[in-house]
Amino acid sequence: MIGGGLVGATLAIGLARASHKVRVLDGGDTDFRSSRGNFGLVWVQGKGAHSAPYAQWTGSASRAWPEFAAELLDATGVDVQLQQTGGIDYCLTESEFKSQADKMQRVQDQTDGMFEYQMLDNKEVRELMPQISKAVVGASYSPQDGHVNPLKLLKALHTQMQKLGCEYLPNQPVIDIEARNSGFKVITRDGEFYCEKLVLASGLTNTELARKVGMSVPLKPNQGQLLITERFEPFLKIPSIHIRQTDEGTLQIGDSSADIGYDDSTSLQVLAMIANRLLKIFPHLINVNVLRSWSALRVLTPDGLPVYEQSELWPNAYAVNCHSGVTLAAQHATVLSQWIAGESVDNYQGIINEFSADRFTDV
Ligand SMILES: Cc1cc2nc3c(=O)[nH]c(=O)nc-3n(C[C@H](O)[C@H](O)[C@H](O)COP(=O)(O)OP(=O)(O)OC[C@H]3O[C@@H](n4cnc5c(N)ncnc54)[C@H](O)[C@@H]3O)c2cc1C
Repeated sequence: MIGGGLVGATLAIGLARASHKVRVLDGGDTDFRSSRGNFGLVWVQGKGAHSAPYAQWTGSASRAWPEFAAELLDATGVDVQLQQTGGIDYCLTESEFKSQADKMQRVQDQTDGMFEYQMLDNKEVRELMPQISKAVVGASYSPQDGHVNPLKLLKALHTQMQKLGCEYLPNQPVIDIEARNSGFKVITRDGEFYCEKLVLASGLTNTELARKVGMSVPLKPNQGQLLITERFEPFLKIPSIHIRQTDEGTLQIGDSSADIGYDDSTSLQVLAMIANRLLKIFPHLINVNVLRSWSALRVLTPDGLPVYEQSELWPNAYAVNCHSGVTLAAQHATVLSQWIAGESVDNYQGIINEFSADRFTDV
């Protein structure tokens, strides 16, 4: 396994459970690592509005999460603080409300009605979240959404994979890979390793590493900036893509998106934009102290859907990328790992095939 972020760690767990001997070669703290900078949502709303397989895959991941979180707690003692209390996406204009309603309807159509949601007006939103302002035109609500503590999740995954016997080697950036008939020689800054099966889960670096084993995996970074406030008594029961209250009491505020290359700096302009939008929804937060801010890079394919690719040239090489690694974690640790292990994945095979990188041959 190359990469020990959310994707690499979940796959390592699944492969170890399938009786594979797994070694994880990970990079270091100066890498772009979205698993350490994300928002922690287990989010279904809006996912797959233009892709039935993605809508179905995301829905199945959300349904698999309670069992996955319980297993992690049982095996590691780490409670990832899964809360599936539903999720809200606030709309501040009539046109936002209409386009959100259209998107929700499309997701429901793509899942043959499995995706549940409601479009709520201001009064109905207020029944769920009494603190919202009159500026909120309405919101979409789905009972299938939720959130976790993403850093506890990464800790739980690392604990679990090592308990299952995976060897984890940090600060071992892979610089080259040589494919042979018998397997792969993986060359890191400090040494050489050999394996029969190779899984690339190195986030944005996958594009470069995949080329070495005959795969084309086009990816680009997308910057998101986030704010963290001081702690409060729990008051925000339902998360949204703009704000959630963490299990530790802080508010995590975010949802910027910028296509500006490999830039993970923060800017006052973007942070002010995030804060201003939030204050239109929750004006009572005006005097809250912001303690920290950061930015991290999403790992995006050209169509925003995951890539689950098996090399045609070297069929024991795989590449996995997605921009919802928290949401999809439960499926990656089970179904997707079974696919990589060569086991039957029954009804999911069709969905996995849809996410092959073949779809980008014209990109
Ligand atoms: C701002 C933001 C908010 C987000 N919010 C959510 C959310 O709410 N819900 C959700 O589901 N998803 C969210 N995501 C997306 C989620 O964080 C990612 O999908 C997920 O973290 C991707 O994990 P990864 O393991 O593929 O990548 P990474 O976390 O980037 O991990 C890649 C790993 O590979 C290592 N590596 C890199 N190069 C090499 C090399 N040459 N050799 C060895 N190792 C290497 C790195 O050190 C790193 O550990 C968000 C992302 C961002 C940026």
